[in-house]
Amino acid sequence: MNYRRWPNPYETLHGTIGVDASIKSWPIISPMGWLDRTGGHSANLENTLINGREVDMTGIEALLNGFQEFRSMYFDKAPDLYQNLLSQGQNPRFAVVACSDSRVDPAIVFQTKPGDIFAIRNVAALVPPYEEDGQYHGTSAALEFAVTGLSVDHIIVIGHAHCGGVAAMVRKQEGRNVGGKFVSAWTDLLHKALERALAADPGLEGDALLAASERQSVCLSLENLTTFPFVREAMAAGDLRLHGWYLNIFDGVLEIWNFDTGTFVPQS
Ligand SMILES: [Zn+2]
Repeated sequence: MNYRRWPNPYETLHGTIGVDASIKSWPIISPMGWLDRTGGHSANLENTLINGREVDMTGIEALLNGFQEFRSMYFDKAPDLYQNLLSQGQNPRFAVVACSDSRVDPAIVFQTKPGDIFAIRNVAALVPPYEEDGQYHGTSAALEFAVTGLSVDHIIVIGHAHCGGVAAMVRKQEGRNVGGKFVSAWTDLLHKALERALAADPGLEGDALLAASERQSVCLSLENLTTFPFVREAMAAGDLRLHGWYLNIFDGVLEIWNFDTGTFVPQS
């Protein structure tokens, strides 16, 4: 089976980083917006020279430097994109429900541009069931706007390997203390995912149980999506499609849920 390999996320975002003192400038941004990778190769997240200036890439300055690159690209060199996004408004075709985990940023993983993705991120990439209780439902509010305000064509739920949110739920179910209040209550939504994983294979434990629960949580969120009336209506009209994906960050494989076969299929 041919698995697609994912690029190093840091290199994907920033290009290759040289630490040699002879490096005079940040790698050049190509017309497509991606950073040229023809520079040095010795990545070092500490004391990196950028434009002749030493930057501690472990500190907040790294973010400020990143913003300068963003501004240079989208406001100085190629301002058309944001001018259009402002004059015409955003018009993303994809709403993505992804985990808040720093390793699975959908804009980086899928190499998108500003305006491409309406991102809804929370602990464990969960979609709660539809509830009219007057409480604070951030994920539901974002979904409502994506479907009824932006008329997105696709909602993609993206679970991932080594998910701390799913692990917290599994630990809690095993009687272990997970600490905190909000994560514990939020991931209680995943009980059914764990139950289904064990129902499918009662012998599962450890990492295998976690991985099975992570995939089941994607399916559970897909089911919960269909409890929202505006989602059902858009789907019935043929205006909206749902997708369940699982990002295996151990080996860089994207698995896509096949609704017909009821299995996750690795993409080659
Ligand atoms: Zn996660």
